[in-house]
Order: sequence, then structure tokens, then C-alpha cells
Amino acid sequence: MKSNHLSIFFLLIAFTVSAQTNYDSVTIRPVKLSEQIYMLKGSGGNIGVMIGKEGTLVIDNQFAPLSNKINGAVKTLDPGEIKFMINTHLHGDHSGGNENFYKMGATIVAHDQVRERMMKESFNARANRTTPPRDKEAWPAITFADKLNFHLNDEDIILHHFDAGHTDGDVIVQFKKANIVHTGDAFVRYGYPFIDISSGGGVNGFINTLDKILLLIDDNTKVIPGHGEVATKADVKKVRDHIADIRDQVAAALKKGKKIEDMAALGITDKYDAEYGKGFVKGKDFVLMVAENLKGGK
Ligand SMILES: [Zn+2]
Repeated sequence: MKSNHLSIFFLLIAFTVSAQTNYDSVTIRPVKLSEQIYMLKGSGGNIGVMIGKEGTLVIDNQFAPLSNKINGAVKTLDPGEIKFMINTHLHGDHSGGNENFYKMGATIVAHDQVRERMMKESFNARANRTTPPRDKEAWPAITFADKLNFHLNDEDIILHHFDAGHTDGDVIVQFKKANIVHTGDAFVRYGYPFIDISSGGGVNGFINTLDKILLLIDDNTKVIPGHGEVATKADVKKVRDHIADIRDQVAAALKKGKKIEDMAALGITDKYDAEYGKGFVKGKDFVLMVAENLKGGK
């Protein structure tokens, strides 16, 4: 499979998934993690919610048609207004409702690169696809480069950007006292991760981000992944080690002079496919993605 076929493959999958989703049938289900903090599941990336007397803070908001349902689910936890809406990154399954939540009065907070990319038309040369800018109401009002602290509801909330991994605007949200972390798509549980190279992501940055997350957390931390069920440090460590192993094998094959198109036949992910191959990124595609990325000098 050539690289442009790979990109088109991912786009087709993304379009198919969104076209097939019947948002009317989606229910938003809360999972309680502490007295103040919940994960909400629906369709798209996991949502984090913190409630308290000083206001509600929400992390990610799935797709735009779900905004009213999500707002309703948040209001059942606490009737107060949503003060802050954090985006873990720019993808539409995490930030699709930004315009709606802006209109409800929330202040949108994200990494500098999320705003930069939302403001501009983007062009993916491989897929020959142009994405228009997001509406102005979706653009984050508060942005930062490396670290931002919130002090709200007697909790210290730290937003970290460690490296360009899943995208170049990834944010990890840490609730320090509650010992809960929302990783966005820097850590997912649907299988092989997607590394969005056209949005500045890279495999080395992806692994580096996981290493930095591991330094933040301990065996008691509740980890909200970008997708999938709540996880532990051991789960994050395992994924980190497996991705690093695949990266190292691909790098060694490239060093030996293997061509990208020969990479898929090497069986690098064979031992991982049973566990990770059920997601939308298949083992061979992941190997090609890593190989193209490493060859591109990331
Ligand atoms: Zn994503």
C-alpha cells in the first residue's frame, strides 16, 4: 500500500464513522471518578467534567450534534454554568461542539497550535484535501505553549503540553489533588494509536509524551484516555513500551535499507495485532505510518 493510499484509507474511515453515527440514538453516560470529577462517554472522545461551587470545567466535547445532550448530562451532575471548556487537541471528535459551548458562555482553552490550526485552512497534500478554518466561535480564547495552571473548586488543575505526539497541540489535564489525569488522544485504548502527522504529530513525540505522563502519575492515578475505559499507570506503561518496540524495529529496518513499501511484510506487529488490531488503525498501517514519519526525519 502506498503512502497516499494509507492517508486516503484513514480519511475514508473517519468519514464513514461520522456519516454512520446516528446522534439521536447516542446517550451520554457519566462515570464517577471522585466527588467532583466524572468521565462522560457518548460518541467520540471521552469527556472530563469537574463540578464545584466556583463553576464547572469540561474537557473535550465530542461532535457538535451532541452538545445539548452533553450539556444536559453535565447539568444533571451540577446545575451551574460551564465556565471553562478545555480542548485536549483540535480533532473534531473532541472539539466539534466548541461553537455551541461558546454560545452557552464557556471560555475555550487549548494549546497555541489548536487555535493556530483552527484559524487557518489546512491542506493535506497526500490526500489532496483542503479543510476550511473553523468558525471564529470555535477558536480558543485562552491558549498556552507548555503549561497552564487553574485553581478552581479547591483543586489544582495543570494543563501540560509535553511534545508533538498525536498532534502538535496535545494537552494533558492533571487534577493534582484528586490524582486524575485526562490524556486526550496521547493515550487511547481502541488499539494502535493514530499519529496525525499532517497536524504536526510524530511517533518520537508520541512516545516522549507517554514517558512524561508516566512521570506525572502513580499506581493510584485514574487515567481518562482519549477513547476507551478508565485506565491505570500500568496500562499506559504497557502501551508506551509496545509502541516504542515497534518504533525501534521500524527504525532498525530503515537503517538496514528496507524500503517503506516493504515494511508491512516484515511482521513487526504480528505479536501485537491480537490486542491492538481491532481498532481503526491496523498493524500494517501503523508500521507504515511510523516508517513514513521516521523517514521524514521526525
Ligand atoms: Zn485525535
